[in-house]
Amino acid sequence: MRKTGSPRGDAYWVNFVTNLSGERIGVLPYERMDAKVLDATPEMIHNIPQPEFEKFVAEQLENDPNVQMSKGVAYVTSTQSTDSVTATVEERSTKARWEITSRYLLACDGARSQVRKDLGIESEGDDGYETMMTIHFNADLRPVVTERVGMLHWITDPACSGLIIAYDLGGNQVLISNFDSKKHPADTWDQALARSVVTAAIGQDIPFKILSYRPWLLSRKVAKQYRQGNIFLVGDAAHSFPPTGGLGLNSGIADAHNIAYKVAAVHQGWAKDSILESYEADRRQIALVNSVQSVKNGKKIFSFLKTLGTAGIDDVQKARESLYKSIHDPAKQDMIARELEIHIGYVYGDKEAPPNASDFTPKFIPGARLPHAWIKPLHDDIFDSLKPLDVSYVKELTQADISAKQFSTLDLCRMDRFTFLVPPQEAWKGKFDEVQKQLLKAGVIVRLYVADTDFEFVDSEQKALFDNEGGFSSGKALIVRPDQHITMCPTPDTTATLMQTEILNHLGL
Ligand SMILES: Cc1cc2nc3c(=O)[nH]c(=O)nc-3n(C[C@H](O)[C@H](O)[C@H](O)COP(=O)(O)OP(=O)(O)OC[C@H]3O[C@@H](n4cnc5c(N)ncnc54)[C@H](O)[C@@H]3O)c2cc1C
Repeated sequence: MRKTGSPRGDAYWVNFVTNLSGERIGVLPYERMDAKVLDATPEMIHNIPQPEFEKFVAEQLENDPNVQMSKGVAYVTSTQSTDSVTATVEERSTKARWEITSRYLLACDGARSQVRKDLGIESEGDDGYETMMTIHFNADLRPVVTERVGMLHWITDPACSGLIIAYDLGGNQVLISNFDSKKHPADTWDQALARSVVTAAIGQDIPFKILSYRPWLLSRKVAKQYRQGNIFLVGDAAHSFPPTGGLGLNSGIADAHNIAYKVAAVHQGWAKDSILESYEADRRQIALVNSVQSVKNGKKIFSFLKTLGTAGIDDVQKARESLYKSIHDPAKQDMIARELEIHIGYVYGDKEAPPNASDFTPKFIPGARLPHAWIKPLHDDIFDSLKPLDVSYVKELTQADISAKQFSTLDLCRMDRFTFLVPPQEAWKGKFDEVQKQLLKAGVIVRLYVADTDFEFVDSEQKALFDNEGGFSSGKALIVRPDQHITMCPTPDTTATLMQTEILNHLGL
């Protein structure tokens, strides 16, 4: 996946410019892409155009005998019984219809979800604040930006205020234009207008091709229910919010990750249907927080553009003069340093939004994702056939660093089992054997990893984190769900029966 998408060297920066050929007002790092970020995650942020990502996923699934893909087929409606869903689908080209019966149906049909409408599920949120135009175009921008490469380019020119997402500086780009919908209502847009806006954003006459232009509302919607009977809403069908923060698809993928092992567990018989109730409980709150955050980010950016003195001035030349005056005002320049926030490190079960969404601290509590630490396996069968990570794309790392960063604590978890991570204390083995014996009767797989016997921490700071925050040094352990979220932090006093009950409760058994 890292071979597709924007190379790290190109994606590192966010530029604030009058237009791509004009003055650079400010520059910020894009998220965190420095080598230190690998202390908190084994996978650094990676930017991939969505069509490329979808192609990549489709290619992985193409030869999977468990997956059947039917393109050009639409969901029309469905009926349900206690333990099944029968969906009517239609081939778009021939209008031929047929039925598909399944145990469950996951509706991933986007923000205008027909399934959601069909079920009559309402959404909460706020209506549009602003209409934006997304223009997808193809142009070689390298000769224009020269050494000012970057992932995002905020354009402040009054003829085109907006954002270029430079997925591929040599080709695919998206311009999100914050246009005046009184002057140019969305339904009056045509190729010529789209071309003139892109030309203004580039700031010089170069060849480019408009691939599409589509309006969207800066608004947020979160479905009031994620489940009705045997049907679940996933991704934009469940929640949609503005792209300011890049949380939309990320939230959708995490929804799918959350529900996938639960459906598999029911299907394979090691969980009861009631485990699926935890899907909405886990994921809806995250969507609520992300939706509010994305709107807040969008409004911040809009007010930033306003402070530059271009909003509300009809005459482009006058607005430009105001802009040039304002970008040299130190007080206004300061605003550029205010970063967008994204919600990271969420904890399932939290009812409150975090005060500062972008602050990430590893947490060793039920609901949090297991903190990452680089580890070294101490014998051969720890990772089965899992291949080591290759972080050589981080050019500043030495060969020794690259060799040390091959496996993460997160790699110890698998989608079909619960994982026990325990400190090197003899008592845990006996308790684990007892839990394992009882759970095997219910078809539940558990696996034990003992620090210093099965794996060792590579980094002393990360070892100290597990010892101190994780409680390893006082004999505490961690029980992790199949999706890498902690379900229990047992102490040396916790009995095998309590641990077993916790896991069975989660599975609805
Ligand atoms: C300009 C822009 C930039 C963005 N940038 C980012 C970003 O940087 N990071 C990020 O995480 N998110 C981003 N997003 C959000 C992201 O695009 C969405 O959150 C994401 O596409 C949602 O994925 P999805 O699969 O749930 O829905 P969609 O991508 O909308 O897919 C739904 C699919 O269902 C199909 N469908 C619809 N109706 C039916 C039917 N009746 N039957 C069968 N199929 C049907 C559609 O054809 C479509 O293929 C951005 C969005 C915009 C507009």
